[in-house]
Amino acid sequence: MNAPAGLRPVDLLTVSAITTVTPAVRRVTLTAPGDVVAAAGPTLTLLVPRIGDRAPDWPQVARDGRIVWPQGSHGVSMRRYTAQRQDPTAGELDIDFVLHGDGPAAAWATAARPGDVLGVASAAPLGDAPAGWLLLVGDETALPAIGRILGAADPGTGGLVLAEVAGPEEEQPLPAPTGVEVRWLHRSGTEPGLSTLLVDAVAALERPAGEDVFAWVAAESATVRAVRADLRGRWGLRRTQHHAIGYWRRGRAMSPADGDAD
Ligand SMILES: Cc1cc2nc3c(=O)[nH]c(=O)nc-3n(C[C@H](O)[C@H](O)[C@H](O)COP(=O)(O)OP(=O)(O)OC[C@H]3O[C@@H](n4cnc5c(N)ncnc54)[C@H](O)[C@@H]3O)c2cc1C
Repeated sequence: MNAPAGLRPVDLLTVSAITTVTPAVRRVTLTAPGDVVAAAGPTLTLLVPRIGDRAPDWPQVARDGRIVWPQGSHGVSMRRYTAQRQDPTAGELDIDFVLHGDGPAAAWATAARPGDVLGVASAAPLGDAPAGWLLLVGDETALPAIGRILGAADPGTGGLVLAEVAGPEEEQPLPAPTGVEVRWLHRSGTEPGLSTLLVDAVAALERPAGEDVFAWVAAESATVRAVRADLRGRWGLRRTQHHAIGYWRRGRAMSPADGDAD
């Protein structure tokens, strides 16, 4: 069927490879034309086909970028992810999916095979800003973004990464400049979203001297709210000096409107 006037098909990405990063993280390499890859990140709203449903009925995109859904059941869920690597020349991007068990995106990533297809609804920036001293706080879902922020940082940048993961087997190499310390915090059996490791670690930090400071925080929503309150209150960070965003909500599926930074 032809697209109605003013609507175009969504961009589709095809799985070309799968890599096990850690026991809980699966890297899916996706291919598309270079211009699609260039526009698809660093954070993407993915259109994820629901496993077990019939073939997805993809939405379309209006001229103003709005997603226009087909009538009735379409078999597609929207979830937000990060392009861990984005290479328009090769026409490739990598997404690291945390296999947390439940949910259409985790289920799709667990079952993904070369040739499978995902859609992209929109893309957005990571929300970071360059600074002489960076505080990066996050759990497994934030590691692709933290890696990109560190990879783009000036080599003279100082700072601290607080990364919460299940255990040592979930640690990943991060491209940190020499002045940035990476501190891994292990949940050691505590369920994701229930640990206070990140909140406690931030509460134990003194704000570095000077104004050239930026904090970036992404993890379970309640954790992010607590860390953000501490950084705004005790550290006195202005809105331009931090970006804090709930990447997932314990006990609740993400809706497309979730995950907006404050
Ligand atoms: C801007 C942005 C970038 C993101 N980038 C990434 C990324 O690169 N990699 C990545 O893995 N995630 C990333 N996330 C988080 C991801 O979107 C959520 O984890 C999302 O809920 C996964 O969708 P789902 O369909 O698997 O589960 P949902 O249907 O949303 O949720 C189903 C159930 O799973 C639980 N759940 C969801 N996520 C987790 C988790 N991580 N651990 C434990 N329980 C969970 C929920 O509480 C709910 O009970 C990002 C989120 C945002 C907002």
